Amino acid sequence: MVYCISTGHGCNNNCVMCVVRRDDNKVFEKICTEDIFRQIDRMPEDEKEIVLTDGEPTIRDDIFDIIGYIRKHRPDASITIVTNGRMFYYSGFSDRMASSGNVRIITEIHDGSREMHDRITGCEGSFEQTVAGIKNLLRHGMDVEIRVLMHKMNYRNLEATAKFVRNHFSGVSRVVFFPIDLVGNARKNIESLAISLEEIMPHLEKAIDILKNDFDVKIYHIPYCKIQKGYRDFVYGKTVEDARLFFAGDCESCSFYRSCPGLWKTYAKHVDSAVGLIGG
Ligand code: SF4
Repeated sequence: MVYCISTGHGCNNNCVMCVVRRDDNKVFEKICTEDIFRQIDRMPEDEKEIVLTDGEPTIRDDIFDIIGYIRKHRPDASITIVTNGRMFYYSGFSDRMASSGNVRIITEIHDGSREMHDRITGCEGSFEQTVAGIKNLLRHGMDVEIRVLMHKMNYRNLEATAKFVRNHFSGVSRVVFFPIDLVGNARKNIESLAISLEEIMPHLEKAIDILKNDFDVKIYHIPYCKIQKGYRDFVYGKTVEDARLFFAGDCESCSFYRSCPGLWKTYAKHVDSAVGLIGG
């Protein structure tokens, strides 16, 4: 089981597909250190994995206090940080994180090209920092998972992005591809982002072919019936609660139903062709 702790919505990127709504005029309320400690205190005894997430956990100046608090009060729990990876560009920061012991990192490469990655994050220089950050973490032997969120701006480049990952990030523990959930900024920018899964799939298949021999590759939240037989072994089960997922009426009679990750509800609602093949 996974226990997610929100470290607040502040971020040093402003990604076009961020699931946290980012209103340019709004200053997000900061979650104070004590609030985060209280979230940790509320964690049920049987939970064994803490995920620090929401905005960008690593820009908090108390991030190492939070890790220290978890270590002290829940020594049996593993820690995962969902991050854009930019802070790890600073070797003092990545060194300190590495010495915090057994922290797992989940980060994102949006595109193998610097220009497109920075366009997607809305921050010039973010590509350079994230790439250097991942390399710093790998140098320390840390457990790093790279995610590629697929949408209209980057799906044609998936093959090139896979080659970039293969050539630069040997040693990452997992590479995950998935379509975006159309909420937050992604909903606001839906015209520039929404694309049918049928258009994504041929590019995704080529990307998987490039990576599959050297990396643990997974596909999140594309239903089995949208994927060619040879690629179904890469499908990972559900990663979120059922309320965010769409299944068609006749899915229950499908042989994949028990392990199928379904489709984002928002995709089924806003992308006309998304539902077409489900159950077909
Ligand atoms: S028909 Fe439904 S359960 Fe079967 S693979 Fe498609 S989405 Fe999943």
